[in-house]
Amino acid sequence: MQLECPQQLENFIGGTFMAPINGNYIQNTNPATAGFLCEIPDSDAADVALAVSAAQKAFPDWSQTSAEEKFRLLNRIADLIEENLEALALAECNDSGKPLWLCREVDIPRASSNFRFFATGIMHFASESHSIEGKATNITLRQPVGIAGCISPWNLPLYLFTWKIAPALAAGNCVVAKPSEVTPSTAYLLAKIALAAGLPEGVLNIVHGTGPCCGEAIVTHPLIKAISFTGSTRAGERIASLAAPKFKKLSLELGGKNPTIIFADCDWEKMLPTVVRSSFSNQGQICLCGSRILIEASIYEKFITDFIAAVKQLQIGDPLVNTSNQGALSSKVHFDKVMGCISAAIAEGGKILCGGNSVHPEGRCKDGYFIEPTVIENLGPNCSTNREEIFGPVVTLQPFDSADEALKLANDAAYGLAASIWTQNIGTANKMATKIESGIVWINCWMLRDLRTPFGGVKNSGVGREGGWDALRFFTETKNVCTQFE
Ligand code: NAD
Repeated sequence: MQLECPQQLENFIGGTFMAPINGNYIQNTNPATAGFLCEIPDSDAADVALAVSAAQKAFPDWSQTSAEEKFRLLNRIADLIEENLEALALAECNDSGKPLWLCREVDIPRASSNFRFFATGIMHFASESHSIEGKATNITLRQPVGIAGCISPWNLPLYLFTWKIAPALAAGNCVVAKPSEVTPSTAYLLAKIALAAGLPEGVLNIVHGTGPCCGEAIVTHPLIKAISFTGSTRAGERIASLAAPKFKKLSLELGGKNPTIIFADCDWEKMLPTVVRSSFSNQGQICLCGSRILIEASIYEKFITDFIAAVKQLQIGDPLVNTSNQGALSSKVHFDKVMGCISAAIAEGGKILCGGNSVHPEGRCKDGYFIEPTVIENLGPNCSTNREEIFGPVVTLQPFDSADEALKLANDAAYGLAASIWTQNIGTANKMATKIESGIVWINCWMLRDLRTPFGGVKNSGVGREGGWDALRFFTETKNVCTQFE
């Protein structure tokens, strides 16, 4: 198959590509060039209702489809993602501004891994049975919830879209999914792939549009029983307020303000390049990026010297060029927000150690939304820079004198998604790991992912866990069936 993104995307409902019922479109821009990329449907409740009807029609057969057949179909989707790696990577790069090599090496391969992982997972997903000795047997059935709504953000577009869709489908649900309006292209191409793979019509429906209009129509539709959302804490709050009174199942993966804790006894050679990555990968637009770097006071000055030297090596430029380490930010709106955060940091007393400016690469990217990797010191834990999620190439440095002080600083945040700890004292690291308020702790590494592990945050970083059995459990309802022997 030949995958190509047209200039006008369509919704994918009941196995058919179609225009939005209201005929309205939103302009989508390539953030690396600030030029027009495509138009996407500005769908509303009418399109969502159509998608739900298609899903409802498909559900009786899909929910009864054997694990073997789902395994085959989901693996076929994974195969087609791999076969179309180049087209998908280019679409992701043009939509998001992230380097093409990153799309090729990380985003798109991970999307196919998501399908393979849950294709296999469903073959091993077992029910439980509890015997009341001599009297009865209880069987816990795990049944699909019905129609699941999956809503994803722009930072890891296909990667996170498929992280929700694959387990929802594997568990026997039909899906109504909405990608971010900022990065819709690979979701559109995924619909082409699902069709080519032979996924029955109506099992996966993809509607495009904005959060308030299309997203909220998904969240509030009475026949959508579970909402899996990844995005900002602000939108998560709104979604929870809409869905909770309707008693829907909710999985909310939200923002972060992750600490990176560096002790004097760490493995310097391993720590330094990893902390550059954990700070600035994907222009700092990964929910797991460490944006508050806490450094033991005795190595604070040495860390500044070596870290700044390494950060200055990062090449910012055209995402299509292989040597660009850093691409563009995802949109003009986000670029303005991050530049505003840098100004606010200066206004509240922050000292810029490097970066702080927008960048205008020569050539086709001169009008794109690029920002230098920015390192700021001199701000305490109460400053807004250390409290609000920036979600861009901006980190702060704070010194600490003891493990207790580091822990206090780490936990002094409204968020609790991930943390990383750098020390060769494994006792200190593990003790700290038990006390850090976050869903994920990395010791002497960052973003080392195993898809079987629970993924998610605490506090304002959300509720629920994705990954492994957690995802399959979320997309199923348990039912206890008790049989008395006589
Ligand atoms: P966002 O909340 O603006 O949008 C995310 C998605 O939700 C988009 O598809 C959007 O259209 C939709 N949406 C927005 N408002 C909605 C509403 N009221 N009802 C229904 N849908 C709505 O987030 P974003 O700017 O696209 O993404 C960046 C955010 O995502 C950051 O805060 C980041 O930390 C977070 N994030 C979290 C994780 C995680 O796993 N915890 C992973 C990636 C990104």
